Amino acid sequence: MTQTSTPTAGARPDEVRRHNRTAVLRRLHVDGPCTRAALATELGLNRSTIKAVVDGLAESGVVSEHVPRARTGAGRPSLLVLPRPLAAVVLAVDIRVEQVAVALVGLGGEVLGRNSWILRAGDPADVLTDVVESARLLTEDLAAQVVGAGVSIPGVVRRRDGFVHEAPNLRWRDVPLGDRLTAVLGVPTLVANDAEIAARAEHLRGAARGTLDAVYVSADVGVGAGVISDGKILRGTAGYVGELGHMAINPAGLACYCGNRGCWETEVGELALGRALDLPEHTPRGVIMAALRALPEPRIDAVLGEFTEWLATGLVTIVNAFAPELVVLGDLFTALPTTVVTAVGRAVTERSLVSRAIGGTRVLTSTMGTDAKLIGAAELAFEPVLDTV
Ligand SMILES: [Zn+2]
Repeated sequence: MTQTSTPTAGARPDEVRRHNRTAVLRRLHVDGPCTRAALATELGLNRSTIKAVVDGLAESGVVSEHVPRARTGAGRPSLLVLPRPLAAVVLAVDIRVEQVAVALVGLGGEVLGRNSWILRAGDPADVLTDVVESARLLTEDLAAQVVGAGVSIPGVVRRRDGFVHEAPNLRWRDVPLGDRLTAVLGVPTLVANDAEIAARAEHLRGAARGTLDAVYVSADVGVGAGVISDGKILRGTAGYVGELGHMAINPAGLACYCGNRGCWETEVGELALGRALDLPEHTPRGVIMAALRALPEPRIDAVLGEFTEWLATGLVTIVNAFAPELVVLGDLFTALPTTVVTAVGRAVTERSLVSRAIGGTRVLTSTMGTDAKLIGAAELAFEPVLDTV
């Protein structure tokens, strides 16, 4: 979905031109190739304005125009305007508890190159050294110049400067990640909480595309959430919203590292799923996901009945709080049997006052698999870039 806004009345002509250029670029970046006529209709701009903007973008090598492959009807075909991926390349970084992934992503969202490695010792300085080296190799391969970077981190991050207050599962505390990466990469680097970043990806390019109100819930070692409210990411003070894994939900539950007892993630996170499946502690996530996918139908209820109940209980509260039309379950949850997802969706709609009022809430699993955070990190980096390309 492309969001546009009208420049304020009385804006100078160069501001209006800049605004229109960004709107066209954002539309092409997120929604793909499009004719000039369709751009004019979608963005509410007249044809001569679109011509001036597209000509300008083509002259500076940011877009190109091609005859569409599938031609319809007789007469001259309309040219398609395409973003040129190498015109703006960003670095996307997804730092997880057990793995780091980096990718170079071009204008239009194409992944141009990627690399990942297992994270054994998570010292921030070592992780940053490896990220920078990996980025250098990828950019050399592509002969590309990176213009910005976005980083996904499983922790509490200050949006202004990417300062990581706490990333408990990485054992990181008070790491000035944004400032350090900006200094060593030499490009603006934005850092955000992983669930918020994945929500951004789902909203722009995934299951929540086109929706105004959605919640993305991700399960990894921890459980986090990103909230799209009225088409925008909900941030909260300093950008800290989304620690829904720490809703205190079970007074008789397990101790959580945050200092409370019975947090939602102790009932629905990776450790809880491992316990439900009778797997030893520290079983790798891939094995847990494979075990979930291999569960025979008749055993699903016996193994995952309690988990399903806790997942539904937490989501009822979340839906009552944020009134989303859609809940997207990501990461580890993408391996849940369909019957569990369906049962949770039904329970949410039946038990949530808000859900009943809005005619039900859809609960789906992400189709981006484990890539949502990497894709979202790229989109975070593109946000300021699209204003300046
Ligand atoms: Zn907690």
